[in-house]
This record gives sequence, structure tokens and C-alpha cells, in this order.
Amino acid sequence: MRYDTIILGGGLSALVCGISLQEKGVKCLIVSSGQSALHFFSGSFELISTDGSQREAMENLPDGHPYRKIGLDRVMELSKSVPEFFTRAGYALSGEYDRNHVENTILGSQKQVWLTVGSEGFPPVRGKLPISPLGVKMQMDLRKRFEILGGDYLMGDRAVRGEFRDGRLASIFTENHGSSPFIADKFVMATGSFFSRGLVSTPSGICEPVLHLDVDYCSDREEWYGKGFFDNQPYMRFGAVCSDRLEAVREGKVLPNVYVAGSLIGGADPIKEGCGAGVAIISALYVARQILEESL
Ligand SMILES: Cc1cc2nc3c(=O)[nH]c(=O)nc-3n(C[C@H](O)[C@H](O)[C@H](O)COP(=O)(O)OP(=O)(O)OC[C@H]3O[C@@H](n4cnc5c(N)ncnc54)[C@H](O)[C@@H]3O)c2cc1C
Repeated sequence: MRYDTIILGGGLSALVCGISLQEKGVKCLIVSSGQSALHFFSGSFELISTDGSQREAMENLPDGHPYRKIGLDRVMELSKSVPEFFTRAGYALSGEYDRNHVENTILGSQKQVWLTVGSEGFPPVRGKLPISPLGVKMQMDLRKRFEILGGDYLMGDRAVRGEFRDGRLASIFTENHGSSPFIADKFVMATGSFFSRGLVSTPSGICEPVLHLDVDYCSDREEWYGKGFFDNQPYMRFGAVCSDRLEAVREGKVLPNVYVAGSLIGGADPIKEGCGAGVAIISALYVARQILEESL
């Protein structure tokens, strides 16, 4: 089966990317193995943790952070389009695109967040662990919007490998479809981090198990995590290596038709920096924009 773009994932990043492309008529397939971080969603998106200027807070992020790759002006420009994107999908977001607001957490403390989600007849629900009804509903609604726009969504199937030709990814194969390839011009890897098995730890190190993309991590296991609960956790920044255009890298070479989006990208610490959904949404919009520009 042939598509313009195939997106591997199914979480927030894959859905935002797929919807953005379908809105402009790019024929997409999303291959999703199962539930995503959205199923545990707090009700608020985080862009960056600060009670001041988001732009200024981003200037303190380390080199190699996804926002720095995308460019801080572009991050702010793309973030402006986010409330309208979700309105089109039936979700009214409260908060300003360029300023954080305060929400209560389940621990009884308060937190600076970016945009808070509600939908008609379904107010924000926070802290309903382990499953967030709002997050599950949002996942289903975004999937529905993607399909109404003409996208195909392959649920409960896992991409297992890719076939490469002339330095490009030619097709991918899934568990359920055996030797039948899924072919596309462009591919987006949005398979998430450790939580969704977009990254896995093996005896020889950390790997991205589908395309074997290059992954940035420290080889000394002792340095992967801090022992104290509140210590810095270096493994949070492990992730796929990519160019400033978020093109994937494999065996040291950029794959010009494969992009990386969402929490699979290395360099961010969503807990310390409060940037989880922000990285997922902004990188997805950035990748979609580039695919659209290339298809003109
Ligand atoms: C439990 C949890 C709760 C979070 N809550 C919040 C929050 O409330 N607010 C916030 O700002 N950030 C939160 N985050 C940060 C979070 O990383 C982002 O918000 C965002 O949802 C990540 O989206 P993603 O699409 O990059 O990855 P994921 O949501 O992890 O999605 C990855 C998807 O890829 C699929 N997949 C993996 N491998 C394959 C394969 N081989 N083939 C096909 N499909 C595959 C998985 O099934 C999954 O559907 C949370 C993170 C976690 C882990």
C-alpha cells in the first residue's frame, strides 16, 4: 500500500502531524501499536516551565534541545497556531499561547502550565490516575478528526522494520501485515520514548527498535540515572539523533525522507523543563510544515 506520508506512532505527536498534513490534502497512514502517554494526560499541556517569559526561559535550554533545533522564534510562531488547531478538532483550550497559567496538581501543589484542555460537556479532568478519561477521549477525537480528513489509521499493529534504498527509507513492515510493505515518499517516526517502547534498553545499550536510528545516550550505565528521587535523571534526555530540520540519522547519515517528532527526539527533559506536550506538538507541526513545503 502506498501513501504520501506514513507516520509511525499514534500519540499526540503522530496525531498532530497527521491531522496537519491531512488538512492540506497529504494522504497519510498512521500505524499505531497501542495506547500512548495521552491516556495518562493531566489535562494541561506544558511548553516550558516558567512564571515569566517563555521565550526567555527557552534561551536557557541546553544546546541540542528540540526547541533550539527548531529555532526559538519558530517555536513561538508555531505555538500561536496551537489553540486554533485544537478548536478545529473540537477542543477549547484555556490559557494564552505565549504565557503560562497556574493549575492545581493532584499532589495539591500548583504548577505553571501552557494550555489547559476542556471540551463541551467534558470539563478538564486532572489527576484521575492511572487512566485519564479526558486524555483517552482526546486520543479518540483526534483519531476521528484524522480519519474524517481522509487519513488511514492502522490500530493495534506494530511497525517492526524498514527497507532502505539509495540512502532513503523505501517502505516499512508491520507485525500483522508480514511481508506486505507500506510504501511512502516521507515517513515520520513518532513512536515515543521508553514509556511507549519508541526507545528500548538492551544489553548493548539504548536502541530505537524499528529503523535502528542513531540514539544519543551515555554508554556508562552508572550515569543513566540519579539515585535520589529528586536527582537529575540523565536518561530523560536520551533519544533519537536528528538534524536541525528534525530529519532522522542512521549510521551517522541523515535520512532525507524520515523525520522524528515528539518524545522520541533526544535532548529534552520533560519533567525538569516542563516541555512534554510542547515538544510533541511543536515538533509535529514543524515536521508537517516541512513535508508540506517539500510537496509543493
Ligand atoms: C505517563 C505520561 C504522562 C504524561 N502527561 C503529560 C501531561 O499531562 N502534560 C504534558 O505536557 N506532557 C505529558 N507527558 C509528556 C509526554 O511525553 C507528551 O505530552 C506527549 O504526549 C508525548 O507524545 P508522543 O506522541 O511523542 O509519544 P507517546 O504518547 O508515547 O506515543 C507514542 C506512540 O507510538 C506507538 N508506538 C511505539 N512503537 C511503535 C511501533 N513500533 N509501531 C507502531 N506504533 C508504535 C505507541 O503505541 C504510542 O501510541 C506525559 C508523559 C508520560 C509518559
